[in-house]
Amino acid sequence: MSDTLLSSLNEAQKDAATHIDGSLLILAGAGSGKTKTITTRLAYLISIGIDPASILTLTFTNKAANEMRERAYSLIDGAFVNTPPLLCTFHKFGLLFLKFHMNELNRKNNFIIIDTDDKKRIIKSINKEITTSVLVSEISKYKNTLLSPEEAKATAQLKLYQEIADVYEKYENYLAENNLVDFDDLLLLPYKILLANENLAKETSQKYQYIMVDEYQDTNELQYRLLRLLCSTHNNLCVVGDDDQSIYGWRGATIKNILNFNEHFEDTFVVKLEENYRSTDTILDHANQLIEHNRDRLGKKLVGTRKKGDSIRVYESGDENEETRKIVDDVKKLIDSGESANDVAILFRVNALSRSLEEGFNKAGMNYKLVGGMKFYERAEIKDLIAYMRILTNKDDNFSFKRIINKPKRGIGKTTIEKIENYSLQNNISMFDVVINNTPEEIAAIVGKKNARTLKVFEASIIDLKEVMEESKMKFLDAFEETFDYRSSYDNLPDGADRQGNIDEFYGYIRDFFIQNPHLELKDFLNEIALESENDELYNEAVSMMSIHASKGLEFKHLFIIGFEEGFFPLIGDGSDIEEERRLGYVAITRAMDNLTLSFVHSRFYKGKRAQLTKSRFLSESGLIKGSLTLEKQSAYKKGDLVQHKIFGMGRVQKAVKAGKDYKLTINFGGNVRDILSSFVEKI
Ligand code: ATP
Ligand code: MG
Repeated sequence: MSDTLLSSLNEAQKDAATHIDGSLLILAGAGSGKTKTITTRLAYLISIGIDPASILTLTFTNKAANEMRERAYSLIDGAFVNTPPLLCTFHKFGLLFLKFHMNELNRKNNFIIIDTDDKKRIIKSINKEITTSVLVSEISKYKNTLLSPEEAKATAQLKLYQEIADVYEKYENYLAENNLVDFDDLLLLPYKILLANENLAKETSQKYQYIMVDEYQDTNELQYRLLRLLCSTHNNLCVVGDDDQSIYGWRGATIKNILNFNEHFEDTFVVKLEENYRSTDTILDHANQLIEHNRDRLGKKLVGTRKKGDSIRVYESGDENEETRKIVDDVKKLIDSGESANDVAILFRVNALSRSLEEGFNKAGMNYKLVGGMKFYERAEIKDLIAYMRILTNKDDNFSFKRIINKPKRGIGKTTIEKIENYSLQNNISMFDVVINNTPEEIAAIVGKKNARTLKVFEASIIDLKEVMEESKMKFLDAFEETFDYRSSYDNLPDGADRQGNIDEFYGYIRDFFIQNPHLELKDFLNEIALESENDELYNEAVSMMSIHASKGLEFKHLFIIGFEEGFFPLIGDGSDIEEERRLGYVAITRAMDNLTLSFVHSRFYKGKRAQLTKSRFLSESGLIKGSLTLEKQSAYKKGDLVQHKIFGMGRVQKAVKAGKDYKLTINFGGNVRDILSSFVEKI
């Protein structure tokens, strides 16, 4: 059994896949078979009799988890798998854990996960003065570095940070009161629970005897600490990663986790994989040329196993419409020649770039799926329905109550909602409880007679629906429509048909979910969709469009990458890091197996304006374009460059930030660090 299982691995991969006890680090470049190795290891462990339920495999995207599951199951006889091994994203693992242990925090397990959009709205309602995106990212940073609101307050020196800490505290209280959970909580709360409860930590660690993590370079401090607790009774942690593919620095991922793995976990067995099986030598060569421009890297060797292939095409277009036309034509030709649409993908650095592509594909009547982008579940009508479902499962969800209490319109205005909210705050009960706990007369005293009647009718409808749901989950949706007429509220609206199409699709999802999981409930459905980052069941065969971040770990025979323009890719803005941008370039290019096309335009319509653009330095850095760009390359500065200044002498660049035509350089002149504009120094 094991022999055939391992037969498609090379020697180093075999060593890793059959290493059973102790910590194991597989450090290797793109397409070298890291994921294949741990998937095989999973199958191998099961094939030698290890209980599948004691193996935990963690990944970063649902798509990657699904693909790994398929690969692993195809390697073993299905009969092996009584209780399937848990293979999921970190967040999904957190969710499952919280379902069982939320009570440790004195909270109920009918919590609801909120998405980024909900989060922004809540934060904005707490503070409108400070830019919401700043608040969102600061709060997330606090949570991921395990800084409590009290600690954030105590350490804040500037007034701005005191205010941010204050919003953080209010936000956390709001989540707890409404029993909501944000994405960061899915990691943070399990960690807190395990940290506070040694027995539970031991028990959980005992349950998962073998832990594997793919894409370890993108874990953050919190994930590392969580893993430590999970491994506290054993040291059986196997991680794989590639420092050149670390692309979540902006979200707190720290490459230190992989660099210090040997110190974090005892007696680590290290395996290096040095052959790339995915891409043609041509593709690999250009990817290697690009990443060599980074200073901050371990510098691994990666050699190809495939022959030279077609040369990489670079498309130059006047604008995004011309770019789209070229790509649509190419994809059409590929499909006409018998290629599967599933083998074709289009990647972009900035999500907004998908718009013209989507338009082009729609016009041409070609199927595509947008992976992890603006999601189905983020559309207003779907969010309304989700809010209804949330209220049905958790009456204390004020956030959802507010969203739907006047949808479809039932005459409940803003002032009425405010009155209910004030009363709820004064009496320390949820907004829906204001309706539930009071008699019609009492409510009338708060919001007037007419509103009181409407609210009581609403309450009765919810109670009735809950009863229907208990009787039959299948009948519930019809009853829901009958009661609230939500779908028909879009009759005769300009884009009503479109929205009704979405609503029907959503009802279809719910029905399917209950058919496939008869023992699960509505709240399980809600949490499931909160974690879903794609809806690829829509079509069997479709071209994938996605951000480079969403593409990691995946591979496609035919790949297009658009938006190779300065400013878009590399993306230049607050906090952007050119080396991380370059790693993104490396990740993107190494997704391609056979054919690769890169594209740039002279102008793009973006954020309401048409912007004139110049082609990306990455094209020249990867050896695809020469000529005028060589000049740009010479005048570009990066960390590590040696420079000469008239007065300060020779120094080494520590940081380079593009500032107009110049670079703002942080230079270390023999111990004195100074900020100097690049036009005042010469490269040596
Ligand atoms: P990434 O860094 O992009 O996540 P990876 O290192 O995880 O890449 P895989 O996705 O596991 O690489 O493998 C890349 C491709 O190479 C897959 O198509 C895989 O089937 C193939 N492959 C890996 N190892 C071998 C091997 N020993 N023989 C033949 N093909 C292999
Ligand atoms: Mg992989």
